[in-house]
Amino acid sequence: MVNDAVVVGSGPNGLSAAIVLAEHGRSVLVLEGADRIGGGTRTEELTLPGFAHDVCSAIHPFAPTSPFFEARSFDDHGLEWVHPDAPVAHPLDDGSAVIIERSLDETVAGLGPDGKGYRRIIEPAVRHWDRLSAHILGPMLRIPRHPFVLARFGLTGAIPATTLANAVFETDRGSAVFAGLAAHGILPLTNPLTGSFGIVFAATAHISGWPFPRSGSQSIADAMASYLGDLGGRIKTGAYVESVDELPDDADLLFDVTPHSLIEIAGSRLPDRYRRKLARYRYGPGAFKIDYALDGPIPWIAEECLRAATVHLGGTMAEIAAGERAVAAGDHPDRPFVLLAQQSLFDPTRAPDGKHTGWAYCHVPNGSTIDMTDRIEAQIERFAPGFRDRVLAKRVHGPAALQARNPNYVGGDIAGGSHGFGQLLARPVLSSNPYATPASGIFLCSSSTPPGGGVHGMCGYHAAHAALST
Ligand SMILES: Cc1cc2nc3c(=O)[nH]c(=O)nc-3n(C[C@H](O)[C@H](O)[C@H](O)COP(=O)(O)OP(=O)(O)OC[C@H]3O[C@@H](n4cnc5c(N)ncnc54)[C@H](O)[C@@H]3O)c2cc1C
Repeated sequence: MVNDAVVVGSGPNGLSAAIVLAEHGRSVLVLEGADRIGGGTRTEELTLPGFAHDVCSAIHPFAPTSPFFEARSFDDHGLEWVHPDAPVAHPLDDGSAVIIERSLDETVAGLGPDGKGYRRIIEPAVRHWDRLSAHILGPMLRIPRHPFVLARFGLTGAIPATTLANAVFETDRGSAVFAGLAAHGILPLTNPLTGSFGIVFAATAHISGWPFPRSGSQSIADAMASYLGDLGGRIKTGAYVESVDELPDDADLLFDVTPHSLIEIAGSRLPDRYRRKLARYRYGPGAFKIDYALDGPIPWIAEECLRAATVHLGGTMAEIAAGERAVAAGDHPDRPFVLLAQQSLFDPTRAPDGKHTGWAYCHVPNGSTIDMTDRIEAQIERFAPGFRDRVLAKRVHGPAALQARNPNYVGGDIAGGSHGFGQLLARPVLSSNPYATPASGIFLCSSSTPPGGGVHGMCGYHAAHAALST
């Protein structure tokens, strides 16, 4: 069968690209190197039989409300979003926890004296989310359709997270929870633009509620594949592509890979200048991840942490900022910022009756070989003494193990490249059409293009439209 387009890689961006092309009547073949589809959206029994662990993505602040997902009905294909009672909990050393509620008003009320400042910086983003998300979830280097909304957001978001938090919050509670949200940018919190990560991740808590798919993030990939199948698209697994020469000359080729892989696969077709630019592309810090099979729920001191699927462990803003700064400087903090998910509290399909799963990771320098298990567990124990006694089994993935599972996680970088200033705006190179390459018919559709890491399908969506418009 002749294919109009071949997509290399079946991560959420490869699948979204294939879907958009198929919706426009193109015959599409997806080639996936691994034995299973999904890339960063896979679920496996990593520890014990009956325990379903998300290998990579767990919580999805963007997916349900991104323009790609919102415009399509994947629930007919088995995708069901589970909404935890509260999106995020952030325990503190005094035994309390700050809760980001789905409702902005309730969050503001819970923040006490910091509520006013939280409302001041987060409410505009929530109120104008439809217009703002069109910019945040697309190529940044273009003429804005809503310049005033973008300018207002840009003026606040451009401020480093620590500076912004110090300016708007009166107590440690507000700044701690904001720092935890901003740390999703995987950058030192004193860097310009890190305030924007705090604002955007807080806003999505009130917009989407940070849900996760019933049965695991594999359901996202499976639902996308099922929809693609209905459109006539085909997927072949176990089909790792080494070279562009293996692919048809007369098809559009869309690569769900990172820039250095694109050089290896298709470098012979790319002009020297573009290849050199891709070679300068920087990968960000890595992740060190642990999946747990647990004998019961995590015994949080602050019991309200059991209301949230996501728990941020790092105490104060000063501690979180120090941890992220250390990672950027190539060090391993004694007290790393830990992102923890406890989906089985809200989704009984994840573990046998009465048992639970835990998903936790911290940032580490790219390519790190240091075992962070003790440090991650010390952070959990600090806010949930007795946690270790509940562990039935665990599975550890350091940067090398993550990369072995998926070549896109170079040195353990889960975001397809650093989100540092230059690469947040110009990804993978400075271009008004970052999805197209100078080689006719060759496109990049992975999270190394705007809007970057995370499960939202928007890199693939924009790349497919770039291919359709040539
Ligand atoms: C530990 C971890 C935790 C995360 N947590 C979250 C989270 O909670 N929420 C969230 O939104 N995001 C999270 N992410 C990030 C998210 O998973 C990624 O941003 C997202 O999957 C990127 O999608 P993608 O399609 O660009 O690439 P990927 O999902 O990485 O998919 C790329 C695919 O291409 C295949 N491939 C690569 N090279 C070739 C080749 N040469 N030939 C054939 N196939 C190839 C790979 O096997 C892979 O299947 C996490 C990631 C990790 C690793």
